[in-house]
Amino acid sequence: MTLANGRTYLAIPGPSVMPDRVLQAMHRAAPNIYEGELHDLTRAVVEDLKKVADTRHQAAIYIANGHGVWEAAVANVFSRGDKALVLGTGRFAQGWGEVARRMGVEVELIDFGRRAPIDPTKLTEALAADRDHRIKAVMCVQVDTASSVRNDIPVLRRVLDEAGHPALFMVDCIASLACDEFHMDDWGVDVMVSASQKGLMTPPGLGFVFYNDKADKARDTADLASFYWDWRPRAEPQVYYQYFAGTAPTHHLFGLREALDMIAEETLPTIWARHSALARAIWAACEAWGAEGPLELNISDPALRSHAVTALRIGAPHGTALRHWLIENAGVTLGIGLGMETEEDPRGDGFFRIGHMGHVNAHMVMGVLGAIQSGLTALNIPHGRGALDAAAEVLARP
Ligand SMILES: *Cc1c(COP(=O)(O)O)cnc(C)c1O
Repeated sequence: MTLANGRTYLAIPGPSVMPDRVLQAMHRAAPNIYEGELHDLTRAVVEDLKKVADTRHQAAIYIANGHGVWEAAVANVFSRGDKALVLGTGRFAQGWGEVARRMGVEVELIDFGRRAPIDPTKLTEALAADRDHRIKAVMCVQVDTASSVRNDIPVLRRVLDEAGHPALFMVDCIASLACDEFHMDDWGVDVMVSASQKGLMTPPGLGFVFYNDKADKARDTADLASFYWDWRPRAEPQVYYQYFAGTAPTHHLFGLREALDMIAEETLPTIWARHSALARAIWAACEAWGAEGPLELNISDPALRSHAVTALRIGAPHGTALRHWLIENAGVTLGIGLGMETEEDPRGDGFFRIGHMGHVNAHMVMGVLGAIQSGLTALNIPHGRGALDAAAEVLARP
């Protein structure tokens, strides 16, 4: 017998759960792409995206996933042979650096490992060593979805300022936008990339690049900017078709419009507080389980953890076994361990992640935690008691 039938739940760090309102907004005939409603809607979507990023500057939309906007951001800033400093804190920052390298950018990587944030003193040293200012941009993630570490973006900005280094500051907020607090302009971020399928609760397929005047100046000389990836026509179109360099992603725009309305209704501070409370409930449960058994939060300091995804270590083969048990017996899909492979665990079977980004509430989180507890019990994986009580306690007094 299986207890999986019923509404299934994809508790992975993207694509996230899509609200019924978003799905219903997309369920309609294609609109006129030449004039009318779609044009007004697109203009308003761009403005509302800037509110979520908290920027007065420019936003370009691409029909692309996160990897696409990684490439877009690089193309508009760098010329072949320019240098980037990449601050690696897991699979995702390294991935962005790899994209830049493949495009002809010289990449210097400082690797902070799989369970630690960026150490600002290492950035200070790297900038001081760059006396002739060859580093054109410093690239990092706010949240690395693989390690679930959250970097302190304002601290890194301060390091750049104190060094008096002119490099652009480029931040990937794909896993954190509309989940963790972020203020592009106040925090001095020059380029920020994000995508539709995580905190923005819309199907994968739209990517966003936000950039300020300093970054746009780099675009003047960036010889990697090609026709399709050029951000200028998209951000300042003379004719509608330039927004997307071709046919508009009509239904994604309808979905995103609805998601942005939901975000405006709840308000960002409330959304950040909800994500914080749900994350703390998950951590409380994980700490209780880990008190007597192999489960361990990948990031030990709560102040350094993402509020949108939690990476866990449980030892091979328990991670994969638990994921499979939950799919087959509870209708819950957890995230795989990403970039966590070791010599003893070549497939990363000792890891899993819980996604808790976007359209997620208290009962969904309690459902996932309850299902995990059943799985730990069924698979005889040792674990401490009181996890669900601890989570409920957090949710009772968020
Ligand atoms: C999901 C994610 C990406 C990659 O997005 P894709 O849509 O899978 O290309 C990049 N960076 C971060 C931080 C992410 O969470």
